[in-house]
Amino acid sequence: MMSGGAGGAIFGPELEAAGERLEFDDVGERQKFDAAGVGLRIKEKLRGLDVSTHIEEAGRVHQTGDGIARVTGLQNAVSGELLEFENGITGIAMNLEKDYIGAVLLGKDSGIHEGDFVVRTGRVAHVPVGDALLGRVVDALGHPLDQKGPVHTTLSQRIERIAHGVLARKPVNTPLLTGIKAIDAIVPIGRGQRQLIIGDRQTGKTALAVDTIINQRDSGVNCVYVAIGQKNSTISGLVSTLGEYGALRYTTVVVAGASDAAPLQYLAPYSGCAIAEYWMERGLDTLIVYDDLSKHAVAYRSLSLLMQRPPGREAYPGDIFYLHSRLLERAGRLSDDFGGGSLTALPIVETLGSDMSAYIPTNVISITDGQIYLETEAFNAGIRPAINPGLSVSRVGGAAQTSAMKSIAAPIRTDLAQYRELAAFSQFSSDLDADTRDRLRHGERIVEALKQPRYKPMSLDDEILVLLAVTRRLMDGIDIDEIADFERGLITWFELWNRPLLDELHSGYAFGGDLEQRMLAQIKRFRDEFEAGRAGGGAIGDDAQ
Ligand code: ATP
Ligand code: MG
Repeated sequence: MMSGGAGGAIFGPELEAAGERLEFDDVGERQKFDAAGVGLRIKEKLRGLDVSTHIEEAGRVHQTGDGIARVTGLQNAVSGELLEFENGITGIAMNLEKDYIGAVLLGKDSGIHEGDFVVRTGRVAHVPVGDALLGRVVDALGHPLDQKGPVHTTLSQRIERIAHGVLARKPVNTPLLTGIKAIDAIVPIGRGQRQLIIGDRQTGKTALAVDTIINQRDSGVNCVYVAIGQKNSTISGLVSTLGEYGALRYTTVVVAGASDAAPLQYLAPYSGCAIAEYWMERGLDTLIVYDDLSKHAVAYRSLSLLMQRPPGREAYPGDIFYLHSRLLERAGRLSDDFGGGSLTALPIVETLGSDMSAYIPTNVISITDGQIYLETEAFNAGIRPAINPGLSVSRVGGAAQTSAMKSIAAPIRTDLAQYRELAAFSQFSSDLDADTRDRLRHGERIVEALKQPRYKPMSLDDEILVLLAVTRRLMDGIDIDEIADFERGLITWFELWNRPLLDELHSGYAFGGDLEQRMLAQIKRFRDEFEAGRAGGGAIGDDAQ
């Protein structure tokens, strides 16, 4: 009789002990039936047996083409799940219909045929993350595109993630310096802010973003540049520029080019974001550039139309707002409990014929914390960066400006607005009063002083110096075509003879009053030297000692 042992054992301990003593007779003899011995052997066999069941759910391709596949028989697949096709290609389940699953393919559809097997993987799309990605150029799934071998990291992150909640965040209060005078003064960007760069084609949008990345050289900010739907030649030029300016070592470039399938272009920004989030969640400050979200929206539109989702305004699907809002919500500044890291996002949107009220521009404007609006007319007139100070705003960046920059930059916006109005008005009148002439003269100098060539980001001290000189009207007597020389000379002169003043400024010493007056006195000295040098044809600073 078997005793019902505790713990669910089939055989009781007494029988096991007895079994050890029992012996089986050899062949030829009538065997005694020994239940306990047989039981022991069965138990031995069962011990190594894996009885866990593994049911792989498989379906079949019903239809394929244009980078998508309709699959039958995968009733339990979930939205966003990775599916594996017979030829090794993966796809993502996007449409869950009654009889079919609509999947987008993350590779070429040419090797997939009707009737092929498709299996669920139970996973969602991931991308490798970690410091191994710095200096690398990868595709939307994190596969390397440069010649530097595999990406050595064991870490990975889900591409699609929910943004951090309210309690995990804190307000933006530290500046992210772009090194571009006009931006740092008029539309300052804070760490964790989402600032849109918007403008027609060829207005310097990419240039602004790239200069901002280059300016992070010594700031400890890791950068991710996501190129969506761009020509490969443009991207390779950009990568070599970043390398040339020493910016690649802290930057990852995520590429889904114009020739890549729409699903990869659709995924690229989320992948780039996941890569940046890894650093943010480890307490670092990060910057991500999405270049550009108009092409991203177009890729998503073609994907949705192929999936037979109903088209809405401008043929975009109904969830086009959510496409960008869930991406840009992932930017922000984490609270100290969450490490205090930040993710600053610079999405780029291209407008057609300066139409800011088109569907995608208005959507993204409403999601972001401000925009930098670039104009074709200004760009063609040589005002570069071609920022429109009236239409550009920064809703949170002001809180992140240093007190010196804030007090110096305050009058620029109104001065420029007045100048623009006067300039348009005075075109038709030849006889202007002294006050108008004066204001025009001042406005022209501000416009000139805010010009900046590419790849020449400036330090905050230098920006403050130049802006202080121009806003306090110390450049009003300088000819327009000498402003650039004046600016260069002023910076060098301060470096050479007024280092202590710059150090004082740098140390966060409250601006205004004393320091401002001492700086102004030195700028005036330089201006007098400059004018004297110009009159006498001598070099600036020769007799400054
Ligand atoms: P696209 O719409 O094609 O993406 P974009 O708006 O990104 O264009 P960029 O490619 O950045 O514009 O710039 C267009 C051209 O203007 C480039 O040749 C670039 O070198 C030049 N450019 C941009 N910014 C400046 C600047 N500050 N000073 C001088 N040239 C500039
Ligand atoms: Mg561009």
